Amino acid sequence: MVILVVNCGSSSVKYKLLDMQEKKELVSGLAERIGIEGSKIKHEKADGGTLKLEQNLADHKAALEKIIECLTDDEYGVVNDIAEITAVGHRVVHGGEKFNKAVLINEDVLNELESLFDLAPLHNPPNVVGIKTCQELIPHAPQVAVFDTAFHQTIPDYAFNYALPYQYYEKYGIRKYGFHGTSHKYVSGRAATMLGKPLTDLKVVVCHLGNGSSITAVKNGVSVDTTMGFTPLAGLPMGTRTGDIDPAIIPFIMEKENLQPDDISNIMNKKSGVLGVSGISSDFRDLEDAEANGNERAALALNMFIYGVKRWIGAFGAAMGGLDAVAFTGGIGENGKELREKVLTGLEYLGLEVDAEKNNIRGKEQIITKDGGAVAMVVPTNEELMIAKETEALVIK
Ligand code: ADP
Repeated sequence: MVILVVNCGSSSVKYKLLDMQEKKELVSGLAERIGIEGSKIKHEKADGGTLKLEQNLADHKAALEKIIECLTDDEYGVVNDIAEITAVGHRVVHGGEKFNKAVLINEDVLNELESLFDLAPLHNPPNVVGIKTCQELIPHAPQVAVFDTAFHQTIPDYAFNYALPYQYYEKYGIRKYGFHGTSHKYVSGRAATMLGKPLTDLKVVVCHLGNGSSITAVKNGVSVDTTMGFTPLAGLPMGTRTGDIDPAIIPFIMEKENLQPDDISNIMNKKSGVLGVSGISSDFRDLEDAEANGNERAALALNMFIYGVKRWIGAFGAAMGGLDAVAFTGGIGENGKELREKVLTGLEYLGLEVDAEKNNIRGKEQIITKDGGAVAMVVPTNEELMIAKETEALVIK
């Protein structure tokens, strides 16, 4: 079975083609700057060979048509005909409270997705465009939606409600939804496999640390709490996002600086986080270099992030009544060995004792703590594989 995984953003399409029998990725690619000057596609075959195209891509349909051409290209293609694609799995950011698992897409599902546009105005509309376009261009293939929020629908009401007048939850669906669910599910599953124990017997804290970061408490295989909230702005400080701040700061700054809701939202999403604090960069490698050269604000930004991760690990240990494992994933979690060591230092009371030698790795599955006690580990995430597996499961049924 060959599955195409599609992730449509507002001006981009990320894609991967996976052969499920062979458990192999065939190709991955990215179409960028769709509808903007300078659009391009990078198409990389897993066994070598990269095709780079610079050409006008007026809309998502034009981009997906070109992607299909690449997939079936004589030299850079990996299938002879699109008929070889069994199904398409779409990453959909927001499933609201309606979707607690992946679904096969039909007319009703599409209508439901459109009714969720209010909750994810930047993400769900391009996701739906991607689905409709694939229905048109690959009509024989069933389409599946896999939601970033679905894994977190098991979070109990006392953890997902905000202490606002209850009517806002009823009227507008204001509650914690959580994101990165596909990654948290995949990584917690791999952590259990690495430990040789059933996931249903484990308490795992998954730290997905990248440009966007979130931490999830996975107890007995289900999400019981997560740091992101109504939107992906909540929780940890991130590359450019604030994370949690005292909500009273928002009207205060708006008044002082004479800002409109869009202005403050832009500041909180794009100009804050470690970029805002350091004034240097949202990229953790730049910050580590700057810190090494004595830059105090870079050091402050990194320390705030590290403290945040440490604090949430402790909080989620409390939420689950203990913890067996902490799994690090995402660009920073997988590669930032110094940062991992700093996060774990001070958590010995939880039974976590980092082993400097084992921790000296990047981007591969490995336990990084000393034997005995709780375990910390690195687990490279693979959201596309998880989307493909969920798609396969629905299509086989
Ligand atoms: P996204 O959330 O966009 O998927 P990624 O998961 O790719 O982001 O993470 C990107 C982040 O990972 C960047 O801040 C980058 O600096 C960080 N990163 C990548 N490699 C390293 C490294 N070797 N050390 C520390 N941070 C790293």
